[in-house]
Amino acid sequence: MNLKVYWDSGVVVQLGETTICLDPQTTKIPYDHILISHAHRDHTAGFLALKPKKYSTYPTIDIFEAVTRRKVNNVKRLSYGEKVKIGDFKVFVYNSGHILGSAMFKIETSEGTVLYTGDLNCVDTLITSAANNVQCDILIIESTYGNSGLVFPSREKIYRSMVRWVVEKICSGKIPVFYVYPVGKAQEVIRLLNEFIEVKVAVHPTIERVNRVYSRLNIKLQASTVQPKKGLVAVYPTYSYGSQKISGEVSAFATGWALRFKNKERFFPLSSHADFNQLLNFIKSVNPKIVYTVFGFTSQLAKHVRKKLNIKAKPLQI
Ligand SMILES: [Zn+2]
Repeated sequence: MNLKVYWDSGVVVQLGETTICLDPQTTKIPYDHILISHAHRDHTAGFLALKPKKYSTYPTIDIFEAVTRRKVNNVKRLSYGEKVKIGDFKVFVYNSGHILGSAMFKIETSEGTVLYTGDLNCVDTLITSAANNVQCDILIIESTYGNSGLVFPSREKIYRSMVRWVVEKICSGKIPVFYVYPVGKAQEVIRLLNEFIEVKVAVHPTIERVNRVYSRLNIKLQASTVQPKKGLVAVYPTYSYGSQKISGEVSAFATGWALRFKNKERFFPLSSHADFNQLLNFIKSVNPKIVYTVFGFTSQLAKHVRKKLNIKAKPLQI
């Protein structure tokens, strides 16, 4: 077998003369072709690399440009369901369910198919649909929540508890403020507030810029950059927590890592990733001969795949 899959500041798939690097973590990349799975900061360094040809989805490029206010050059825009030829490989683009525009890439080679999930979510949300199940020979899967015990309650249950918390705080004269990831999570929380509570939503300017991209893609979000005050709910980036004083503020956080926090009232385990059980179910459903794990609990997930599913598995990153 000459097909190689390895880690070199990103996931590399190589056969003969053709090499692709997926989600490189640096701009200094010695490869000619880069695939970028989604618009989160820890996956988008490759957009700023000058020489290589970049490939990503329309929303991913638009969100990246809106957040960074930088233009991506030498890029091919792709849609779900599309196929593109890169050297001797054929690359297919599928929905990974993580955030708007997030993609999984299936790479067809003469020695079998490789599926790279990027960040993955296996349940429907108010904005995104669950990831596609795509059969493959080699699976490269994220393992952010790839350890036993990291299992989320149902999304409906989490949504209900968030709505209840907001109503309670507004009724007691407070200003509820959610601190969340500004791309993906913020828009899901705003959609939840728009759909289930008739309340105005105040947002940070960065979130507003991302919302405009969503709106261009027909996902309407009612929110504006007004100053938070009584009767409003605010949605702000996590990094801005503590940097401003909002009188009457009660803060909350929506992140999968809330599973580990004791204060259940203010921490909601709303995640854009698959949990441990969903990762194992996804792996089973795509039927790979070998699994490589990347990001997060790589060795733990690989161990569970070997033991529970009896499939060859190992971490790609050392
Ligand atoms: Zn992500």
